[in-house]
Amino acid sequence: MVSTFLRGAQRLVCLALACSMTLATAQGLPSLGDGSSMTTAAERKLGERIARELYRDPDYIDDAVLEDYVQSIWQPLLAAARQRGELTSEQDERYAWEILMGRDRTINAFALPGGYLGLHLGLIGAVSSRDELASVLAHELTHVTQRHISRLMEQSSRVTPWAIGAMILGALAVSKSPDAASAVIMGAQGAAVQSQLNFSRDMEREADRIGYGVATQAGFDPAGFVSMFDKLQQASKLNDNGSFPYLRSHPLTTERMADMQARQALLERRPVPAQPDLVHAMMAARARVLSNPGPDRLRSWVGEAGALGEVPAAQAAPVLYAGALSASRLRDDGAARSLVGRLRAAVQSDPKALRQAALLDAEVRAAAGDAGGALAALAAIPADLAGRPEMLLAAPLQIRSGRAAEVAQRLQARVALDPRDAAAWQQLASAYEQQGQTLRAIRAEAELQVARLDYAGALDRFKAAQNYARGPRQGNAAGDHIEASIIDVRARAIEAIVKEQEKERQAER
Ligand SMILES: [Zn+2]
Repeated sequence: MVSTFLRGAQRLVCLALACSMTLATAQGLPSLGDGSSMTTAAERKLGERIARELYRDPDYIDDAVLEDYVQSIWQPLLAAARQRGELTSEQDERYAWEILMGRDRTINAFALPGGYLGLHLGLIGAVSSRDELASVLAHELTHVTQRHISRLMEQSSRVTPWAIGAMILGALAVSKSPDAASAVIMGAQGAAVQSQLNFSRDMEREADRIGYGVATQAGFDPAGFVSMFDKLQQASKLNDNGSFPYLRSHPLTTERMADMQARQALLERRPVPAQPDLVHAMMAARARVLSNPGPDRLRSWVGEAGALGEVPAAQAAPVLYAGALSASRLRDDGAARSLVGRLRAAVQSDPKALRQAALLDAEVRAAAGDAGGALAALAAIPADLAGRPEMLLAAPLQIRSGRAAEVAQRLQARVALDPRDAAAWQQLASAYEQQGQTLRAIRAEAELQVARLDYAGALDRFKAAQNYARGPRQGNAAGDHIEASIIDVRARAIEAIVKEQEKERQAER
């Protein structure tokens, strides 16, 4: 299957930027706009349009374990950007600051309008440390905080943001066509667009400079920036453009390399890190396994892990992790369990790595139908390390074992904290369903659609909930009248958004 998710998306962003690229090639950065410029609110709306399509893409991946890992890097970067005044309170409020992951094996990360970021599993699988991943995310974060995307779009006086949005969606539709001929056409167009696309050289240097400051302030090793740069430089020497689309949108210029060499000079004689980063090695292995490598590759990872002799933990952890997860995917539960056992033993002296091994243990057991074993593995994770992945992995197992009420309570607290947590809404819907709380279950389904930015789909569910509340039914659940009034308020709010979107769509015609 040709994977289209973020490759498609990258093309699309490029397309949007291409509209105004000719104006942005002038020396120096354009000044921020006047009253006619694109507002952050308009940019967010445009970003939502694109993100909504990405959520629907089969290559979009909502993996709680990788999500948790990426957030453990992303949140400190956001905090540092706020502290340094790079991220203004207006941007903080208006932009989404959301990272959407795609299964693509290509090495890419990119900023979309409105503070959405795309991240390929290929990139997570290819970087050698969390510091390297932080350097890429800090660079993309800076493209957003410095409003590089909006500056490019502001330059375009003839093309409205909504026309750009329509172009992006049109290109997405074409790129998803199973028709080989149109795929070829899209490929040629994509290449033509990409050749004239890219941020300006000054924008790239600014994203490096400010991103470097943000990442180091957030506590990441500045050497991560330098080694990531070396990696990209090697790839560009090899002309490895197929698997490094990142290099097409962020080309290495001599100025960027000179800047980075100057930074590297400052880093000389720094101490070598004392501890190998086992968690990163395991998460990179997970990204590789989840990026649709095909059964032959999975089988070879199982074989490699099985044949592994006595090696240091840093070497063993990623091999055993990839082997165990691959075996589980291949439904070879015995091999999966045995490899997880070896993984646990290999990383036992590192609590955070051991947590990842326990999560994998639970995942492998749950996939094999051993709900009790999976829950026991999760329960053994120390409370101060456990978080969202543990909760989401446990939820369906607990719901099935008659603990739906307890699960619903935890998930309610979760969505109160983060109403955009689609996976939590999904589990919450099933916890309510299990308890016969149909009205609440339908509302949770509606909120799940809101979290995925599908407002029309959400309105449909809210209306279904209203009909259910009005209709004759057996045994009113306690609190249904309160729930019904919440639903009325939410339905009105979402209906207003749907109407506004319809109006905007008509205005484009
Ligand atoms: Zn860049």
